[in-house]
Order: sequence, then structure tokens, then C-alpha cells
Amino acid sequence: MGGNAKSQIDIDATVKSVRSGDRVALARAITLVESQRPDDHHRAQGLLDRLLPDTGKAIRVGISGVPGAGKSTLIDQLGLNLVAQGHKVAVLAVDPTSSRSGGSILGDKTRMGRLAMEANAFIRPSPAGDSLGGVTKTTRETIALVEAAGYDVVLVETVGVGQSETAVSNMVDVFVVVGLPGAGDELQGIKRGLLELADVIAVNKAEGDNVDRANRAAMEYRTALHILAAGQQNWSPVVLTVSARDNLGLDELWTKVLERHESLRESGALLKRRSAQAVAWMREIFEQRLLASFKGSRQAAKQWTQLEDNVRAGDMTPAAAALELSRLVGVKDSE
Ligand code: GDP
Repeated sequence: MGGNAKSQIDIDATVKSVRSGDRVALARAITLVESQRPDDHHRAQGLLDRLLPDTGKAIRVGISGVPGAGKSTLIDQLGLNLVAQGHKVAVLAVDPTSSRSGGSILGDKTRMGRLAMEANAFIRPSPAGDSLGGVTKTTRETIALVEAAGYDVVLVETVGVGQSETAVSNMVDVFVVVGLPGAGDELQGIKRGLLELADVIAVNKAEGDNVDRANRAAMEYRTALHILAAGQQNWSPVVLTVSARDNLGLDELWTKVLERHESLRESGALLKRRSAQAVAWMREIFEQRLLASFKGSRQAAKQWTQLEDNVRAGDMTPAAAALELSRLVGVKDSE
């Protein structure tokens, strides 16, 4: 869609259509919040402000795991199960690498082909973006939009190989890691950092000949988590085995997600988590705006490049160059 068409969106009409669950309006609203055009930012903000009272009602679940673990198969099947139970399911993705590798993890909707056909499911590919910050900002805003459109389950998929899983854990209520059957070596493939974010670990592909290996992997996860959780109160992730392909264990997985959500809500931790996320969100937006405005100035951009060259050549220390940059925006040396 061209920039002009986007900027012609009538905000009042869009607010009404999004609230009524109109998918076309929702898709357009998301395109507006993803837009990089400065004049769209203002309109996007206006839209989000208007829809804010309608947000916050969904269960927000992050789903991560190494490529090939079965995330999209699992989301496809879990999503179908939830739709069959009367839920409205939105699936979003955070994949900061997609713009470079040329293919978004969800760019091909056939990966969730059956869910994509459902009237009560909404699948949105990862936004293009060259920074994780940019991608996560629009994903947070997209969560708000799909909630305003009445989706009561939001699944946010991310590949567990970078920084994106931390970013996603900062925008969801419950975090699920999809693991693979297989012994020790496989476990090494999942980084400790990813495990530490998990509320639920689902060892996938636990069917047929794989069942034994999946059970062994589940045991190993439990052991690893036991060690990781030592000394940490309030953190005891659940490990279970599932088969996304054969739709085994997915009801139990969802029950665990709901239990976790409920216990967070009851203890007040959910509210705390969401308020902390809102503050982190504000900080991110502010930092991005500050940096964008700084880099937007021709003079500053020139200096920036020059200083980077100096640091690269070893003529200047990173600290000295950063100090110089700070002076450019009026930060006093003592600050
Ligand atoms: P993703 O990269 O994590 O999204 O993984 P995919 O969902 O694309 O799955 C990777 C491969 O594993 C595909 O060939 C799937 O068909 C297969 N797969 C996914 N779930 C299962 C499962 O429960 N059992 C088996 N046997 N294969 C599965």
C-alpha cells in the first residue's frame, strides 16, 4: 500500500471498524503503526490513544524455540483448537532478521495454512525492520490493535536464537519454549537465557518412536531448570511433552498456560508485569525518538560517521567518542 493511501485512512472510521472486528480495517491499522513515515506516526498514535481503553484483555503468550522445533506447526494446531473452543486468536511474529534474510518466519502463511483459513484467526507476518527495537515497538502496538479488535488470545512467535526472545518476553504474560526430543546435545542447543524466560516448556514431536526420547528430554529439562531455579523464588516452569503434528498434549499445554496466567493474576504479578512492560515500552519509544532525531540532523549524522571512523581506526576510544556525541546534544560532561 502506498504512503498516500495510508495517510488517507480516516481515524474515526478506523477506530469504529477495528472495534467492530473488521479484519481489513485491522490490517490497515497495523500497516499504519508499522509505517516509517513521520506523518503516519502522528496518526498511528492518535489511533492507539483512541483504542487504548479496548486493549489489555487478551491472554498474551510468547512462543519461542530453535528453528525446526515445530513452532508454526504447534501454533497452527493450538490456534485451531482454541478457535474451535470459541476463542479469537491472533498470531504475530517478531523476527528482526526477516528483512535481511528476505523471508519472514511467518511471511509464508502456508506455514500455518489451516489456521490462516479460519474466520476467527488473524495471522500477521513479522514487520520489516532493520532494528529489533523498531520491530518490537510495532509488535507491541499491534498487540494493542488486535486486542481492540476483540482477539482474546494473542500468540507472539519468535525464533529463539537472538535477542528477540527477551524482547518478546517483555510484551507477553506467559512464555512458552518449544523444545525437541533428544538427549544432552539437544539441550545445549537451547541457550540458558532462553530457558530462564520460560514459564512452560513443551517438548514437541512426542509421538510414536519419539516418545521415549521426548520423555528423556523432558527429564533433562526438569533437571536443568531445577539447577537454574535454585535460589529463585516464584519461578518453577512446567515441562511437558506434546505432538503438534498429532495434536497430542496441546490441551494440557493450554491448561498450563491458563494456570500460569491465573496464578500471575491472582498474586498481582500480572498487573505488575504489565505496568513494568508499559514503562519499558515508554523508555524504548523515547530512546528511539531521541536517536532518530539526533541522527536526522545532517550535522550530527556527519559527526557520528566521523567519530565512528575514528573509533574504527583506533584513533579514539569508544568512551571519548561517546562523550563527544553527548556534547553534541548538550549533555554536560559531568552528567
Ligand atoms: P519451526 O521452525 O519451529 O516453526 O518448525 P515447523 O513448525 O516448521 O516444523 C519443523 C518440522 O518439524 C516440519 O517438517 C514439521 O512438519 C515437523 N514437525 C512439527 N511438529 C511436529 C510433531 O509434533 N511431530 C513430528 N514428527 N514432526 C513435527
